[in-house]
Amino acid sequence: MPSVFIKTYGCQMNERDSEAVAAQLVAKGYSLAPSEAVADVVLLNTCSVRDFAEQKAINKMRNVIGTARSEKRDQIVGFMGCMAQTRGKELIDKLPDVDLVLGTQKFHRAAEYIDELLAGNGRTKIVDTDAEARSEATVREHLLNGSAKMSVSAFVSIMQGCNQHCTFCIVPSTRGVERSRTIPDIVAECRELVARGVREITLLGQIVTSYGRKEQRGAWQVARDAGDSSLATRHSPLVTPFVQLLDAVHEIDGLERIRFTSPHPKGYGDDLVEAYARLPKLCESAHIPLQSGSDRILKLMHRGYTRGKFLGIIGKLRTAKPDMGVYTDIIVGFPGETEDDFEQTLSLCREVQFDNSYIFKYSPRRDTPAAEMPGQVPQEIREERNERLLNLVNEIAAKKYDTFIGQTVQILVEGPSKKNAARYTGRTRCNRIVLFDGSPRHQGQIMDVKVERTGSFTLYGDPAVVNLID
Ligand code: SAM
Repeated sequence: MPSVFIKTYGCQMNERDSEAVAAQLVAKGYSLAPSEAVADVVLLNTCSVRDFAEQKAINKMRNVIGTARSEKRDQIVGFMGCMAQTRGKELIDKLPDVDLVLGTQKFHRAAEYIDELLAGNGRTKIVDTDAEARSEATVREHLLNGSAKMSVSAFVSIMQGCNQHCTFCIVPSTRGVERSRTIPDIVAECRELVARGVREITLLGQIVTSYGRKEQRGAWQVARDAGDSSLATRHSPLVTPFVQLLDAVHEIDGLERIRFTSPHPKGYGDDLVEAYARLPKLCESAHIPLQSGSDRILKLMHRGYTRGKFLGIIGKLRTAKPDMGVYTDIIVGFPGETEDDFEQTLSLCREVQFDNSYIFKYSPRRDTPAAEMPGQVPQEIREERNERLLNLVNEIAAKKYDTFIGQTVQILVEGPSKKNAARYTGRTRCNRIVLFDGSPRHQGQIMDVKVERTGSFTLYGDPAVVNLID
């Protein structure tokens, strides 16, 4: 059977989508190629969040096509995912050698379309970016045997789409409106993973804290209109479906750790804060995208919270769990951002002391309101603010990492380190990476490790004091 190589750009959801496509192809008898140079089929799973990510994928496709042509190799090549969704046939107009363009609601059709293209007796180009009902439930298959690491920790897609419509963000166009899988369906997938050796599950969605909101509201209205008070109570909009899902996943025997990404600050109600204190499997780690420390910019971004509200959430989380690892995303150079607005972002970072921050230079995206706003910030100012903020967050993170020296931390060992196979890698509950001189017997174990030194966003544990907990 032919071989396939999938290259992924962007976020963990994209990684998860690629894995599901790979698993689907393997189930049909395809093999996974180690590189595009030896593959019969090359798929690029794309990201549209910033222009840079789109350009990278387009340039990569040009290289793949150019190399195959110069070596006179027949290869089926395709784009899938976010850029495929928003650009559709335009990608084939730009790169006529592209055979397949597969949108974000069509991942489950990849094998069928590739079969058709390889057979060569049907269509020679396929573009499918249509919406498809219940496609949110099709990103389900896993490649557990492919990588040792994955058998310890797995990602589960719980929903697709986003209704938030932040003015800078293209995601509502690439992923569509929010659609959630059911709790029983998600729990069944998690149970299967745990039965196959997975000990940690990360629940994934564009805004996971909005999980089930739309469906719950619909069910509540139907029950209320039908006069069914018990059903209406069960689906009351006062009970967050996301926390109900956390409770249901928490009940799975054999599962040790639960994480989720990415939430929205608005989703951190008291029920979610309490869940951290109540559910021992829920790791003390929160990735809460801030975007800006200025109320004026937050309003222009259509974020729906203020600086004060954000600080209040962090305070509640740290009261519930003092060891909480707090991570964030920040955009610098949003249209209209003044030096004073930027200073407010810096001051908020000093106040919160994030464990790490992902900083993005604002990138205008087509058909988003911010791209048309007055006061677009010049590139050199975006660069300069990016560097200043990066220096600050790195300095804060380094100091926080140094406080771990001499401490004993609990890690779940994922497997050999990618960079140095003699070392093993694991994560603390608050999501810090720990490296130590381990061996295959440590994989999948929850262990105590004493931190000897720190590196850049890494803790190094002493193997002499490694202590297996179970
Ligand atoms: N749940 C997240 C939230 O609350 O915003 C959304 C995750 S978003 C897909 C990933 C990150 O990309 C965002 O948090 C934001 O910082 C960044 N991002 C999105 N659009 C951007 C743009 N136009 N320019 C620069 N960064 C952007």
